[in-house]
Amino acid sequence: MSLNESDIYPFSVTDLSSKDALVIAPHPDDETLGCGGSIIKHVQAGSRVKVIFLTNGDKGDFKGKFGKDYINIRKKSASKAMEILGVNDFEFWEFGDREINASLDKISEKIKNSMETFNPSVIYATSPLEAHPDHKSAFNLVWQFREIFKGCFAFYEVLMALYPNILVDITSQFQKKQKAIKQYKTENYYNDYLEKISGLNRFRTATLPNSIKYAEAFLLINTPLSASYLNSNFIFNSQFHFINNV
Ligand SMILES: [Zn+2]
Repeated sequence: MSLNESDIYPFSVTDLSSKDALVIAPHPDDETLGCGGSIIKHVQAGSRVKVIFLTNGDKGDFKGKFGKDYINIRKKSASKAMEILGVNDFEFWEFGDREINASLDKISEKIKNSMETFNPSVIYATSPLEAHPDHKSAFNLVWQFREIFKGCFAFYEVLMALYPNILVDITSQFQKKQKAIKQYKTENYYNDYLEKISGLNRFRTATLPNSIKYAEAFLLINTPLSASYLNSNFIFNSQFHFINNV
């Protein structure tokens, strides 16, 4: 059986904004870069949004440009970005950068508690294709709840393009998203995320009408999942195949 193009890649947009969203960000900036436009959409729709920053990102100042105050600067940047995105509910858990794996049990427990108290209908987390160890860990932390969480996971892309099964139109939210990205001054100093994420979001409209200028791409997985899911889902399985073979 051959697949139609639209079975392989989305040719229309999806709107998740009516769902209450829990966003897991390995570092302060991932949430804005990966799903900032979608976060604004949830807020604009009147849905509840909570953002959790797992680490303080302390290893991001590669050349020591920002000195001892780096963690605080990054925290302030995140707070400003949250204000622009319209998010009032956010937490800094302040685990060490590149150290999520060392505290997996503790973080799992905290995420489980947040899921129970916040009761989200969608959970955003970094995609399984990301290479950064904290991004991979954030995926695994969420993925472990696949058989019990009643809602959906939306995995987002930051440093590595994923193979999406949904596209979200963020044309109207894009200016705000750019403004939020600009708040991360320390991160933009080392990497021109504004330009790069703009390019990525522009590219994600390749299969969409010209009227849509910017889109965010996600791998959306409805949960709870049966144990046999991985064997039956072409798109997701192909990404697992990739990560299992590198
Ligand atoms: Zn990150």
